[in-house]
Amino acid sequence: VCPVGALVEHDHTWEVVDALANPDKVVIVQTAPAVRSALGEDLGIAPGTSVTGKMAAALRRLGFDHVFDTDFAADLTIMEEGSEFLDRLTRHLNGDQTAKLPILTSCCPGWVKFFEHNFPDMLDVPSTAKSPQQMFGAIAKSYYAEILGIPREKLVVVSVMPCLAKKYECARPEFAVDGNPDVDIVISTRELARLIKRMNIDFAGLPDEDFDNPLGESTGAAPIFGVTGGVIEAALRTAYELATGETLQKLEFEDLRGMDGVKVATVQVGPHALRIGVAHGLGNARKLLERVRAGEAFHAIEVMACPGGCIGGGGQPYHHGDIELLKLRTKVLYDEDAGKPLRKSHQNPYIIELYEKFLGKPLSEKSHHLLHTHYFKRQRL
Ligand code: SF4
Repeated sequence: VCPVGALVEHDHTWEVVDALANPDKVVIVQTAPAVRSALGEDLGIAPGTSVTGKMAAALRRLGFDHVFDTDFAADLTIMEEGSEFLDRLTRHLNGDQTAKLPILTSCCPGWVKFFEHNFPDMLDVPSTAKSPQQMFGAIAKSYYAEILGIPREKLVVVSVMPCLAKKYECARPEFAVDGNPDVDIVISTRELARLIKRMNIDFAGLPDEDFDNPLGESTGAAPIFGVTGGVIEAALRTAYELATGETLQKLEFEDLRGMDGVKVATVQVGPHALRIGVAHGLGNARKLLERVRAGEAFHAIEVMACPGGCIGGGGQPYHHGDIELLKLRTKVLYDEDAGKPLRKSHQNPYIIELYEKFLGKPLSEKSHHLLHTHYFKRQRL
């Protein structure tokens, strides 16, 4: 919080309340992976407690018509980003000079804005895959609106995010169709906690409930998007199996986990030894990108702007840099992954159905139209 009150956090909870009260709208909600690792902290529940089921129940009590999960879109992101990575890698190995490596993850809008300002010479390096939040919005307002038989304008998509940059991301003009945004309103984890308190919901006393389907199902690869190293680990689980046709025996990529600011590891995928980089915090990201600019070879790099990844995001309950608290949140998400019956994105049955019924295949024309984006050169700050 700004000590002199010069900077004020935008509160969008009343927009959510207005949408929920509008009988002409169908209002759906998605919740990012990291939210469930920390929401309970603002609602009287001990840090390190997963509140996934109570969160779904609370959102239903608030009046959302359908309670979905950004984790579904995290699995979808892996399908697109993992396929893009394999495509670029194959072309690169075959001598195609236009296939740029390393591929950089692109699901963090803080990081995207940072490289648009600071690395405008490298705009063709990041993955073109949209973030899970924006993939969810694009699919909700096309595929799901079609299932419901309503125009996209009747659907209101609300996101609950650990992140304040997501409020900016959903307002980028390229993420709208004829002025109607794919994601209408973003509230932070703190704002959701405030809303739950304001509505007098006894959060601790709620039963655990499931998300709705089809946009609420996810594999274990999805919750780990919320921690540093998690996106690239999820991508490697799928890329390995798609590239080799073999079952990956050990799903945990330990060398890519942990709180070191920059991690570099070599991962064997079939005949290829892939050099992978991971950075969290923009100072660390800058150092890693300078190494790439100087010619150091990497195949893929994950960057998250916040300490520890989204678990330490600017919209989470305040953590004041407490590493032990961030580790507790991290454990919630790794435990959720370990407890899932399916742990690789390409195994998600509703993702398989989405491709069969609507998108065709990863990187199809329709997928490109709905799920991929481009970046802009911006003035250096
Ligand atoms: Fe937002 Fe931070 Fe997560 Fe990036 S790392 S998506 S800025 S919460």
